[in-house]
Amino acid sequence: MHIAIIGTGYVGLVAGTCFADSGNDVVCVDIDARKIAQLQQGEVPIYEPGLEELIRKNTRDRRLSFTTELAPAVAHAQVVFIAVGTPEGESGEADLQYVLSAAEQVGRAMRQYTVVVDKSTVPVGTADKVREVISRVTEVEFDVVSNPEFLKEGAALDDFFKPDRVVIGAESERARKVMGQLYAPFVRTEHPILYMDTRSAELTKYAANAMLATRISFMNDIAVLCERVGADVDFVRKGMGADKRIGYPFLFPGVGYGGSCFPKDVKALVAKGREQGLELDLLRAVERTNERQKKVLVQKALKHFGSLEGRTFAVWGLAFKPKTDDMREAPSVEVIEGLLAKGAKVAAHDPVAERTARRVLGDRIRYTNVPYEALEGADALFVVTEWNEFRHPDFDRMKALMKSPVIFDGRNIYDPSRMRELGFTYMGLGRK
Ligand code: NAD
Repeated sequence: MHIAIIGTGYVGLVAGTCFADSGNDVVCVDIDARKIAQLQQGEVPIYEPGLEELIRKNTRDRRLSFTTELAPAVAHAQVVFIAVGTPEGESGEADLQYVLSAAEQVGRAMRQYTVVVDKSTVPVGTADKVREVISRVTEVEFDVVSNPEFLKEGAALDDFFKPDRVVIGAESERARKVMGQLYAPFVRTEHPILYMDTRSAELTKYAANAMLATRISFMNDIAVLCERVGADVDFVRKGMGADKRIGYPFLFPGVGYGGSCFPKDVKALVAKGREQGLELDLLRAVERTNERQKKVLVQKALKHFGSLEGRTFAVWGLAFKPKTDDMREAPSVEVIEGLLAKGAKVAAHDPVAERTARRVLGDRIRYTNVPYEALEGADALFVVTEWNEFRHPDFDRMKALMKSPVIFDGRNIYDPSRMRELGFTYMGLGRK
């Protein structure tokens, strides 16, 4: 199939590459000329495990190309994916300006029956708006499909090649058939394609993200309660997860959820409810807990040290989660801003997110090439992202480098009793 992808970010680039890898002819379009120039030269602007190799292979085999010119890419395409950003608007709603502007350009460029797919996360009713915008500018036949993306950054290729499910919201049999053919190679392992109407598909994406965010905030509340009552959240988590109705995933307390999706999607869902006269109180509470949680580590440090003025802290992990360089809404930013505001100095290490961090935090902190370097003379270490390389460090070396052996572990990656044995003052979340 001939496919055009509009928006070559985390989602568009992964989707385009994976569709090319299953034999389709894919053109990825972006308005960011620098990004496209980089991709044309074989450089990948984001960090995603395995992506660079796969892009190289598919560009070499001429199934995948990159351009800033939308019109020719769309004119040849049978399926056009809109995968542009849907950032938070002024009142928390999703800002649709990029989606609708892309839709209009797509409408003007279409030359034959085209399936236009909303891949971006968009509020209920957007497919209707996209249909309206395109109808205004073309006589060509088309269908609009909602096909939300569920990939996780850091495991995006695996998620795309072997999705738990593919959700396709479509109102026409013709479009359903095209989408079914396109996704057939990805669902051979009996993972289902779930066909539904566009509104249900749009809401499914938000409901799924809101559910995951709810589990995180719920566990963060339980972790705080554990600390107050002298329980250990790790036992509680295991005891809960063993119940099949609950299950283990997403029951880990932490420093709050971040990233480009959960915070904005929860807000957008609350805004959609409000637009319909419905106050989604549960999700408001999920957000409040998350805001509190992002401050927890700095509060623990204040309680421990009294004043943070003039102290030096090491931070391990800047990306909002491991295996990505994405720092959108990353808890690390809140932790570091909190420390700086209290007069502390920060040295940080992240295996891949330093380049992003320099854009977000500038030179207000020191960046180190290796994790241990950040510990030199540090009053304490903050573990903010649970990168694998932080899980089994040389604790003796750490102790020797630090001014005082104190660890605030925002991801509970170490065992509290072992840390005590090793001579650390160790503070996790909800641990005994
Ligand atoms: P991104 O910001 O990384 O990429 C969006 C790209 O679209 C940018 O490169 C931008 O230059 C480009 N763009 C904007 N307007 C354009 C236009 N008119 N024509 C061509 N290109 C245009 O965003 P992302 O993280 O890939 O997310 C895209 C959408 O997918 C969002 O709605 C997001 O919520 C959703 N989503 C993201 C993830 C994720 O993990 N990042 C997962 C699932 C869904």
